[in-house]
Amino acid sequence: MSNSELILSIRNLTVKYRSRRGYVNALRNINLDIYRNEAIGIVGESGSGKTTLALAIIRQLPNNARIVSGSIIFYNDGNKVDLLTMNYNEFRHYLWEKIAFVPQGAMNSLNPVLKIRDHFIETVKAHNPDASKEEIVRKAREVLKITLLDPDRVLNSYPHQLSGGMKQRVMISLALILNPAVIIMDEPTSSLDVVSQKIILQNLKDIMRMFNVTMIIITHDMGVVAEVANRVVVMYAGKIMEVGDVESIFYNPLHPYTQGLLKAVPKLRGETELYSIPGEPPDLVNPPSGCSFHPRCPFAMDMCTINEPSLKEVNKGHLVACFKYET
Ligand code: ATP
Ligand code: SF4
Repeated sequence: MSNSELILSIRNLTVKYRSRRGYVNALRNINLDIYRNEAIGIVGESGSGKTTLALAIIRQLPNNARIVSGSIIFYNDGNKVDLLTMNYNEFRHYLWEKIAFVPQGAMNSLNPVLKIRDHFIETVKAHNPDASKEEIVRKAREVLKITLLDPDRVLNSYPHQLSGGMKQRVMISLALILNPAVIIMDEPTSSLDVVSQKIILQNLKDIMRMFNVTMIIITHDMGVVAEVANRVVVMYAGKIMEVGDVESIFYNPLHPYTQGLLKAVPKLRGETELYSIPGEPPDLVNPPSGCSFHPRCPFAMDMCTINEPSLKEVNKGHLVACFKYET
């Protein structure tokens, strides 16, 4: 990694959801450091806790969620603050200005009766009421160009006049307009056609370079990670199973779950038959004992059903939670 200045440090984060069947253990003791200007991909099957992690960072967890423990330290201009305990009014300014979030299906959250120009004006005015409309539109034109959109056409359009891919790029532009230090994107390319996906992924790399922004990209798609991330976090059953730079994860995956995820990407192996990891993700109301992956793991040993492996560094910057690597 070219830069090792911390921007976010997550410690012992545990989140549960109350449900009719009992508590869903959505995040279990997450520890993760995120560095300035990196693009970190958070991958895992559906239900592994990726969105919960993003919502915890931006304090937008639903009402039935409970943060049982943990801290999320944000390093800001030489100071550090715990996002989870800071005064909410103060935190509201952090949202968009410091940390922007582009939710899954974000393109559908544009207001159908507002032109795109007014979306930009409303977003900026909510944080800076004195900003002039001319200045906002000037900046909007800049960010729209960076996301490869034609400002003349887009600013005067209503959302329904734009394609899905264009709307998604508008959402990314809206997230960028206040120059946040961190941008979190939940499945930025899902439900888009292949051409729009390619444009957005290529574009994200340019955005990172031009805006000096830290990107957290949440996806179930290893292909997306390969395109944009320089570091990868693999989540399973509310836990981090493996962390490493993108080359280590793709060329030397250690965790059997990561190996399974990579086998399930046909393009990477030049295969036409789609592989899927046998079995189902676990029920997080009653997660498996020991290593959560043991019911699906081809290498499971007796100890894996009883004891829980912790995340340990095996090679520099490459961490894995698996007994295979403990001697
Ligand atoms: P996806 O890709 O499907 O969004 P994810 O990896 O982002 O999955 P989360 O959405 O964070 O996973 O979900 C983690 C666990 O928490 C899952 O078991 C999910 O069913 C559960 N969960 C998520 N939101 C709620 C909620 N509001 N109430 C109860 N359980 C929830
Ligand atoms: Fe498989 Fe055991 Fe490693 Fe878990 S700890 S991934 S069950 S070998």
